[in-house]
Formats: sequence, structure tokens, C-alpha cells
Amino acid sequence: MIQADFVAIVMGSFLPKTINRLIEEFSRLPGIGPKSAQRLTMHLLHSPESRVKELSDAVSKLKNGLQFCNICWNISENPQCGICADPRRNHNLICVVEEILDVVAIEKTQEYKGVYHVLHGALSPVEGIGPEQLKINALMNRLEKMDEESAGAGVGGIEIILATNPGLEGETTAMYLMRLLKIHGHKITRIARGLPVGGDLDYADELTLTKALEGRMEYS
Ligand SMILES: [Zn+2]
Repeated sequence: MIQADFVAIVMGSFLPKTINRLIEEFSRLPGIGPKSAQRLTMHLLHSPESRVKELSDAVSKLKNGLQFCNICWNISENPQCGICADPRRNHNLICVVEEILDVVAIEKTQEYKGVYHVLHGALSPVEGIGPEQLKINALMNRLEKMDEESAGAGVGGIEIILATNPGLEGETTAMYLMRLLKIHGHKITRIARGLPVGGDLDYADELTLTKALEGRMEYS
């Protein structure tokens, strides 16, 4: 069997540069090999110009006017994302997740009424990802600010749900956060097991995620 890479090189040798360039760009995307990149490029080549323009518009405008929410680090068009700005949400219930897609997955359940904190990754000594690379400091500052604002009222009302992925890195991150947060006296819970180990949160179906959130256990 001929290797996909080899096919790409042989096929690409007589193609115009513009086509090869697009194949190369597609190949850099996660989950897309050289063969899929070729197929996508050929598909676009046969699509109406208006369709191609819509796609290129969507790509080129992707980063325009987008920013991270300055409270939870979710992606947002405003300094505060729609979830943080929503007064109907329970702002004392903070679900800590690894990625923006985890927020999307939990929101799809339509069961969770709290807010989030996106870490933008998980601790990984192997890949050299330490606490300083994640939004952990931002979480601590956020909680400190909440403590100050509720001065006198105590911090008992705040619950932090650690919803990092099952698997080594997610568990390591949850343990690290648990130790760090414990000194602040907040209630800390971890989503229930039952999610496939090694599987990301955003691969779990809505019912499994709802059950994992409902069955969360308090760290003692
Ligand atoms: Zn937010």
C-alpha cells in the first residue's frame, strides 16, 4: 500500500501552487490527513465561487472582534461572555473545565445553571505544561475578588466543580486545584466517574454529562 504522504507528494507535483498551498493548509488542521486535505481542496475547486467566498470570509473573520471573557476565559464578543453576563445563572457555582469545547458540551445538556472557568489546557509534566501556562492564577484572582465582594458573608456559598477530563492529565489538574483551593475554604466537588477514561468531555453524550455533573462528589 502506498503511504498517504507519498500520494500527496506525487499528486501534488504537477498541481498549481495555489492548490498545493490549500492542501498544505488543510493538512495542518487537527484530524485531517493529506488525503482528506486533497479531497477538501478538490471539493472546493468544484464548488460555486459564492460558496468558496463564504468559507474564506468565515475563516478570515474568525479572529475579528473576538476576545476571551475577562471573568471565565470563555471565547466572547464582549469583555464578558454571555454566560457571565447572564443574571439568571448561579454565579456562585463555578464549573472548571479544560477547553472551550467542554463549555459547549455542558451547555448542550441545558441542565447546568452555574458559570464556568476555562483553564485552556491541563497540567502535563510530559509536555512541559505547568500551572503558569493555564488560567489557574486567573481562577485564584477571581475567587479572591468574590471573597472580597462577599466580605462578611463568608465564602461558604461558593461551590467549585472540577470538571477536567478523566484520564491522567485531567486528574492531575483536578488534584492540584483541589489542594490549592482547599485553603480558601470553598466547597470543592469533582464530576462523577462514568465518563470514558481518556475520552474528552466534549465526546460524552448529553445524558452521560448530565449524570456526571449531578453525581459530583465533594472532596474531603
Ligand atoms: Zn465568561
